[in-house]
Amino acid sequence: MSELSKCFYEVTAGKTCRDLCHPEYASCWLSFVNTALRLLPGAYKLYLTYLVIPPLVKGGGYTWQYWKDHFLSYSTASYKTYVIAVVGLTLQCAFYKLFGKLNYYWVMGFPGFFSAALSPKLNRIHLRLQGITYFNMMLEVMLKKSKFRLLEVLRESKLCGMALFMIFNARIMEVLQHGKVNQFWIMYPTRIREPNREEADDSRVIGAIYPRAYKACSHERSCDGFIFDGIWKYSFAGFIIEFARALITKFPLLYNNPAQFLPGLRKILSFKLMFFLAAYIASYRAIGCLLCRHHGEDRPSHNRIASFLCGASYLIYPKYQVFTLAFTKFVEMSWEHLFKTGKDLPEWVWKLQRIPYLRITHACAVGYMYHALVFHSHLSPPFNSKAVNYCSDNRVERLKRRLLSWMLEHEWRKA
Ligand SMILES: [Zn+2]
Ligand SMILES: [Zn+2]
Repeated sequence: MSELSKCFYEVTAGKTCRDLCHPEYASCWLSFVNTALRLLPGAYKLYLTYLVIPPLVKGGGYTWQYWKDHFLSYSTASYKTYVIAVVGLTLQCAFYKLFGKLNYYWVMGFPGFFSAALSPKLNRIHLRLQGITYFNMMLEVMLKKSKFRLLEVLRESKLCGMALFMIFNARIMEVLQHGKVNQFWIMYPTRIREPNREEADDSRVIGAIYPRAYKACSHERSCDGFIFDGIWKYSFAGFIIEFARALITKFPLLYNNPAQFLPGLRKILSFKLMFFLAAYIASYRAIGCLLCRHHGEDRPSHNRIASFLCGASYLIYPKYQVFTLAFTKFVEMSWEHLFKTGKDLPEWVWKLQRIPYLRITHACAVGYMYHALVFHSHLSPPFNSKAVNYCSDNRVERLKRRLLSWMLEHEWRKA
């Protein structure tokens, strides 16, 4: 597919937007009407995971208001994503008319950018969710595509990835413990408190490994309870995420081929995320407890050491998604922390703060990923093709195949 970027103009010479985007509809107008009428269910299907997983891992507090807000939130995000998809596909025709020919960057790339920039603004939570997901996928493609030697080493070495994840994780946890930044991360540090020297230590397992006459840690309950509670909750969340993902992927089998549903589900169900999350929280909490026992009190350095070391569990689940999420959070939280704690920052730095980064990042990443799906599809994460194909009713997939067949035809003619 990478060849396509080199011979795009030769391959598409004389072709129109109808040839590429909508051969089934005689005019761009008809194509627009059909797009607008047919794409709505796809966007709702894409967000099914978002509808199912949060209530499953919430574990309580299911009020009527909660369900109402949750469903409304799901519906709004789906609807606005549908608008982005319709605008994006329609802009393909508009840009063809503007230039009078098909243009490499204006196929999927700029239409994606403008559709995200011009469509109704998503609320901040959804914008963050979509923006960060797309930005992380963009980083993934850039990492996979790069010819830069240092990035090539990073791409191939799981140990390098692990070392960087450990550093990002330690910094994120340090910023969170500082308390000025409150953002989602896989876990949160406990607020440090003075040890109560009267309180007896009732941890059997950890107490046997490192005895202490009193409870030196900052957390509630015993160290054993604290660690096992983390393992249970994080394993459960990891299992639910994997299970819901597998269920949604294999759901069509339930009515197409029910006998294959369970074997299919079993085949793609993986426990690695579950093990990663369990090892991550268990090692963080256990190291923290042992350090508190050793020093007789909790200190900020314990959080730093424990979060750095527990980052080694990345080796269990060395995925681009985990790495890019940690990198993005590391940059984002460090940036926010700087603004909330820096006192004598120059005036120009404060001006930078007013730039709507999230919106710009979202639009750039959507454009980049739409373009990557067509021209570098082997590097694009599966979620990208799933999202685009759900929302475009497989129109982008057909567009990609058309381009591929033109390219093969072109090669054939040359040979
Ligand atoms: Zn057209
Ligand atoms: Zn403890």
